[in-house]
Amino acid sequence: MSIELPEARILAGQMDEELRGKQIGSCSLEDYERLQRVGFFNKDVRDFDRLVEGRIERVVSRGNVIRVELDNGMNLLIAPEYGGRVLYHTGVDTLLEKYHLKLDFADGTSLTVRLASMGIIQAFDDAELEKSYVYRRDFSEKLSPGDESEFTLERFTEILTERSQQLKQVLVGKDAVVVGISNSAFQDVVYRAGLHPKRKGSELSNGERRALYDSMRMVIRERIRLGGKNQFIDLYGNRGGYTPAMGPNMKQRACPVCRAPIERLGVGGGQVYFCPKCQK
Ligand SMILES: [Zn+2]
Repeated sequence: MSIELPEARILAGQMDEELRGKQIGSCSLEDYERLQRVGFFNKDVRDFDRLVEGRIERVVSRGNVIRVELDNGMNLLIAPEYGGRVLYHTGVDTLLEKYHLKLDFADGTSLTVRLASMGIIQAFDDAELEKSYVYRRDFSEKLSPGDESEFTLERFTEILTERSQQLKQVLVGKDAVVVGISNSAFQDVVYRAGLHPKRKGSELSNGERRALYDSMRMVIRERIRLGGKNQFIDLYGNRGGYTPAMGPNMKQRACPVCRAPIERLGVGGGQVYFCPKCQK
């Protein structure tokens, strides 16, 4: 279960409301060596000591990345891109047995972060933020499809027509023209838009571009409205209510629209489920 733009935004919103003004009393790290080896954690874990005594000023997100800003110039970056849990605790009862990072606040409450597999937990001061790949990628000039004012059909069209790659590359990964879309949202979006996952960005007709744009906005809006995808757990332990129209959940099932058996295709280093009849 990946945490993409909608879930990152839900968590950041809840954290901003719950944690703003809280002072960090201590920071504990566990079981992080594997993450550190692959560069998903600060090389020097003493960087996390600099979070202590900081007070949370605000929590924001862009793309899949959550940024916790402290009043001492430090930031905690969290991006559980391949799943994970970020939980708030008011007592010891609800504390997870395992976590990668735990912040204990001066008022006795705490926050734990546990990544399922790959993802990012990093502590940087304002001047060092650019060292973080996910920060550079998502807090960038790229369009955010979760922002109504910047993500206009005109701008999306402009960028899309310049791209001759397959839609997967255009929307997901390091060369994507937008932030916040991973393989999960991609499958849902292209199915709803009626587009084959191997279509190329520059080849889309006006109507197809419009369908793609509308389905991106729709998927993001509905995922936020319904509290995230159905495997997502929010800050308070509540499960999300959004079921993707297409994805691994449709394996060996028939398309609800045309009854064709759903197929699977390897695209851009990942598996994509799709309907061979509806997606052209
Ligand atoms: Zn179909």
